[in-house]
Amino acid sequence: MCKMPRRALIGPLALAFLIATASAQSPIAAPPVAQSPAPATSATTAGTVAAPTDTSADAAAVGAAAIEPATAAEPTAEAAQAPLPVAADAPGSSEATPPQPAPPPDPTFELLGKRVEPGSRVRVSWRSGATFIGDPMDVPITVVHGNRPGPVLCLTGAIHGDELNGVEVIRRVLGALDPSELVGTVVGVPIVNMAGFSRGSRYLPDRRDLNRFFPGNLNGSSASRIAHDFFNRIARSCDAIVDFHTGSFDRSNLPQVRGDMRLSMVVELTRGFGATSVLHTPGAIGMLRRAATDAGIPAVTFELGAPVRLEPIEIEHGVTAIETLMNNLGMTQRVRQWREPQPIFYESRWVRVMRPGMLFTDVKLGDRVRQGQRLGRVINPLNDETSELVAPVRGRVLGMALNQVVLPGYAAFHVGEEASEAQLIRDAARALVVPDETESMDQGATSTPVEGSTEQVDEYTPEVEGDATE
Ligand SMILES: [Zn+2]
Repeated sequence: MCKMPRRALIGPLALAFLIATASAQSPIAAPPVAQSPAPATSATTAGTVAAPTDTSADAAAVGAAAIEPATAAEPTAEAAQAPLPVAADAPGSSEATPPQPAPPPDPTFELLGKRVEPGSRVRVSWRSGATFIGDPMDVPITVVHGNRPGPVLCLTGAIHGDELNGVEVIRRVLGALDPSELVGTVVGVPIVNMAGFSRGSRYLPDRRDLNRFFPGNLNGSSASRIAHDFFNRIARSCDAIVDFHTGSFDRSNLPQVRGDMRLSMVVELTRGFGATSVLHTPGAIGMLRRAATDAGIPAVTFELGAPVRLEPIEIEHGVTAIETLMNNLGMTQRVRQWREPQPIFYESRWVRVMRPGMLFTDVKLGDRVRQGQRLGRVINPLNDETSELVAPVRGRVLGMALNQVVLPGYAAFHVGEEASEAQLIRDAARALVVPDETESMDQGATSTPVEGSTEQVDEYTPEVEGDATE
């Protein structure tokens, strides 16, 4: 089982550390403790506040260094080509004859009982359940296992079956990988919710949202069993997870990475995506990324565009970002050039509709707006009453609704206010003790919205609010 020691991903310099450990601290040389499953690394359980000193002080400098392609690639190349150390003190090996060298560790990667040889690409099938008439529901998974040991990066798409951009990103990324050149392993699951995908639906056939059931329960509902099987048999094999989503229903999102910036392992991961917006959202209970970080696996959501559609610009951004990430993790050597290679960090606020009617937007996704600028109007066709939605801050339109009929409370615009990474981390930590926004969202709280409200919405369950976006 070729698996990175998970704890190597934790800590202020985890990304750089990971690059080094991708080869130097490969399972071949790893101490026995690192090989254990260690599903709940104590330092990284949910709710743990990353000490500000971990990440904030030198955050900008570290981030800049970590995502600089040249510095990321060079040490990896050198380290990866260095002779692999012999684990002479590997446990359980040759205790009867101490002078003998330890047997070489198994360089194969194993997933769902299938062994993948180094330098090869294998299609694995995950049986996620059965249809109502009893046919098995097979989900294809592609594993590209490199010649040289390194991190296991997992890419998951279509947990919401109608979110298509990520499916194509994963297909392109996996298709372009050369296993003979890859360091580590990439596991691509383009369509996790095959039942929803085949029906063009966000949900499972029982109308449940799969992304509210991780890590699942063996004896729970159908959704919970599917989540349990996926989480334990696939997600736990990953050293990092990128879960692709889009805006929900009739909303679209600018390409953006979302993660719990209170966790230093997540902060490290978010630095790797190149010129991609990064937002702090803690993630609702039941989300794959939340369950993963609870288990000590760094994980983020990658939002790209709108559901149901296949959008070339968003897909291209996703492919480039993942290729940049793999390069920054020391897994590949090829780099695509971004015009702006740095991640852009945002504090974000939602602007909600107050009066019912037809929404007409004035802005486009990605537009930069000033405080007080009109973002759109809601016109009631019955009485001609018009209300305006305005930007609560100077910032950028990170997400927005398409023109449609809306009810009061509908989250129409998501405006991001640019922040430094350190500021984002500081405010994320502060949000933990100020429960009026993010924490109350977890409960789907019925706080009274205000025009131009600054509430965040992605913590609501869709059953409650219908505007959850992950
Ligand atoms: Zn989604």
